[in-house]
Amino acid sequence: MGGYFSRRRNAARAVARFRHPDYVRWIKAGQALKCCGEGLIDFCTDIIVRFHRSLVVQHGLAECPFPGNIKKVTKDGRSWKVNCACGVCDVWLRSIESQLATGQFSWKNSNVQEWPIHPWQLAKIFMGPGKDPGSYDPADTDTAGFLQLILNCRLFAGKLDGNKVQLVRTDRNNIMHSENLKVKSTDLTTYLDHMIDLLREPALQNFASAQSAIVEINKIRTMSLDVNLTEVRQLETSMWKEMIADQQATNKKVFLV
Ligand SMILES: [Zn+2]
Repeated sequence: MGGYFSRRRNAARAVARFRHPDYVRWIKAGQALKCCGEGLIDFCTDIIVRFHRSLVVQHGLAECPFPGNIKKVTKDGRSWKVNCACGVCDVWLRSIESQLATGQFSWKNSNVQEWPIHPWQLAKIFMGPGKDPGSYDPADTDTAGFLQLILNCRLFAGKLDGNKVQLVRTDRNNIMHSENLKVKSTDLTTYLDHMIDLLREPALQNFASAQSAIVEINKIRTMSLDVNLTEVRQLETSMWKEMIADQQATNKKVFLV
């Protein structure tokens, strides 16, 4: 009987947490961030697919003739190289490398032998580490990944206002690194304003995903969350996944005292 009542008490505490306004705002901020990332999908895919198509034209339709070999990109002095003497992998590597604006390449995010086949394998190289090398669907990319791609890859230079991208990136970090998983009321308003400002950029006007993200984010601004616990858990899980990826990238530990 005691077990039953303590389980009921724990469940009641969990529900109380979901009713705390700062926590609800944290969840809302996470939901809005997710929408913002989804809003960038069409634009980013368009640019990467065009780039990929131009490389296919430039380098021919050739794929690596040694697909079974495990190929890795390593640094040789100051330049990158692939441990494959096929002549295809190396040419692709040089073309991708020429588009790095700032930051680091994350070669491990991508399977070398799939470069000539799957455009998104190129995009992931410009994102932070920890992306699944086996994924080539833009829908698997999180918001941080899209923002890193836009900031790190020259193909995006001058297309969007860099300050607006940076603001959303800083907000995203504040949300994901928030102590106690809480967001204050004025902060939520600022975060949503920044996301909408970015999605309203002229270059995004003709992309349906950006326009529907604006609508969704504006709904989040006014709505009370109508979600069930399963949805809350899914949303929290996706936020935790991003937080864990951040921690793995920086190698910082959380100290529990
Ligand atoms: Zn090769």
